[in-house]
Amino acid sequence: MCGIVGYLGEKEASSVLLEGLKRLEYRGYDSAGMAVLNGKGVAKAKCMGKIAALKDVISSQPIHGHTGIGHTRWATHGKPCDENAHPHTDCKNRLALVHNGIIENYLEIKEKLLAAGHDFRTETDTEIIPHLIEVYYQGNLEDALINALEEIRGSYALAVIAEDEPQKIVAARMGSPLVIGIGKGEYYLASDIPAFLPFTQEALLVEDGEVVILTPEGVKLLDSQRKKIERASFRVLWDTTMAEKGGYKHFMLKEIHEQPDVVSETLAGRLKQTGISLEIDLPKFKRVFLTGAGTAYHAAMIGKYWFENLAKIPAEVELSSEFRYRNLLLSKETLVVAISQSGETADTLAAVREAKKQGAPVLALTNVMGSSISREASCLYTRAGIEIGVAATKTYVSQLTLLFLLALKSAQDRGTLSHLEFQTFLKELYRLPELVSLTLKKEQEVKHIAKLFSGRKDFLYLGRHVYYPIALEGALKLKEISYIHAEGYAAGEMKHGPIALVDETVSVVALALQSPVYEKTISNVEEVLARDASLILVTEETNKQASKYTNNLFLIPETHWLLSPILAVLPLQLLAYLIADKKGCDVDQPRNLAKSVTVE
Ligand code: GLU
Repeated sequence: MCGIVGYLGEKEASSVLLEGLKRLEYRGYDSAGMAVLNGKGVAKAKCMGKIAALKDVISSQPIHGHTGIGHTRWATHGKPCDENAHPHTDCKNRLALVHNGIIENYLEIKEKLLAAGHDFRTETDTEIIPHLIEVYYQGNLEDALINALEEIRGSYALAVIAEDEPQKIVAARMGSPLVIGIGKGEYYLASDIPAFLPFTQEALLVEDGEVVILTPEGVKLLDSQRKKIERASFRVLWDTTMAEKGGYKHFMLKEIHEQPDVVSETLAGRLKQTGISLEIDLPKFKRVFLTGAGTAYHAAMIGKYWFENLAKIPAEVELSSEFRYRNLLLSKETLVVAISQSGETADTLAAVREAKKQGAPVLALTNVMGSSISREASCLYTRAGIEIGVAATKTYVSQLTLLFLLALKSAQDRGTLSHLEFQTFLKELYRLPELVSLTLKKEQEVKHIAKLFSGRKDFLYLGRHVYYPIALEGALKLKEISYIHAEGYAAGEMKHGPIALVDETVSVVALALQSPVYEKTISNVEEVLARDASLILVTEETNKQASKYTNNLFLIPETHWLLSPILAVLPLQLLAYLIADKKGCDVDQPRNLAKSVTVE
């Protein structure tokens, strides 16, 4: 995830772009850059670090001009460094381009362009685009871009300028956000509205598949068939702080609603019609050991079931803070999977080092490129973008998605699933972003239930098998942001102790989804109902029996039971958020917590 901006008008482009980038810094900040048409050609400035570093570069070497594009990066392909920072150019430096997203078939195109003599300077996926445009460019930038887009696959919001057309910016969108700002005789483009809000409140949304051309004459919008279309602009009524949160009251809520896009990003280029393809080769292993802390540990726990069920590989899981104190007897045949959003979690880093000392291959799953853990182990990125809310939501769902891919890839390599089973999982993975989106559309129902339960003091979350870690995660979300006492239990454990707690003051959130453990879980539901607990049930929309147990239902769409935990956690995130907000808690910065825990 990164931020792009563009400006065309009378003002000094570099200062408008800097202002816009500053407001998009929440989307990424490992490096930044801009390109401006200065009358002689493309003038560029870029550097590693935050927007403040770019501002220093521009103060010492000003670039002048009235048409320009800018970028704040959150690396997905190629480490954060000066060279990999956007904008990227063609061989002759006559075109400059900024991009948010991932080009899935970049390697194939790069090989072709290299063979044709193109000169590449970066490790990014993005750099192939200006070179492809160069191939097609004959004096009309939109024609060249449209031809280039025919060849690329992946997600993008991009903007491009050309030396020969000094009063034009061409932009396109597919799967990454893009909005246009309309001022008086001047035009803006950005990944998000706050970027141009100090200058104009009139905005125009660009949809997937569209191409937009900005010139002093106005905005021209082309649909996916390249036909000109008209769309009315609208007035943004947010203030600037609201705008940074995309109109949401808190970052946590915004991040919850970003999850359909996040799942798409995590799957991008890895999920193919023919199977799963990861950026790195997995070592040969006979056993898998997963580790993490907090929410990442809850992801690790589900990972264990997926490795066992899909790849038929013995799997174990341990908290990273306990990992190094055990005598784990690791060997080179045990793959250690270490999960950390920040890639800086001290306990997980210590676990990685211990595993390496014992000769085990280590695979890190992290969200932050260039982080300590990513440097010490081979690594797959979750690509969730920056998460500002302290309570993990979208990063958790991206970890689950990536773990599922990893377990399914291991199944593919070992041939442990029938063709039909494997195809079913691929099909359901393709539907996953849409299923996540449908689940989140039920926010109103969750809101109603959150209101009913917000005054209650004790919550038990119950689930079995793959839903047990979701019960733990649901309880963790509630306690960390609302400070309400909440515990997650394996539903079958209730009768061995915790059921002593249950009376009419206790609220129970039970995960009873169609799976081999459905009936057993329902028996546990009956047990708590018999003791007068108030019940919330998470189950499928198709469950006709559900209302027999309670009216408080979180209904999710049907999918394969091994994937349904990814959907089941969503209403629990919303429930925790809505209760905490109702209580007036500081949702994004709960007391005593920090986003990245770098102490042991
Ligand atoms: N894939 C591009 C890069 O790595 C863009 C990244 C982004 O959207 O954050 O530079």
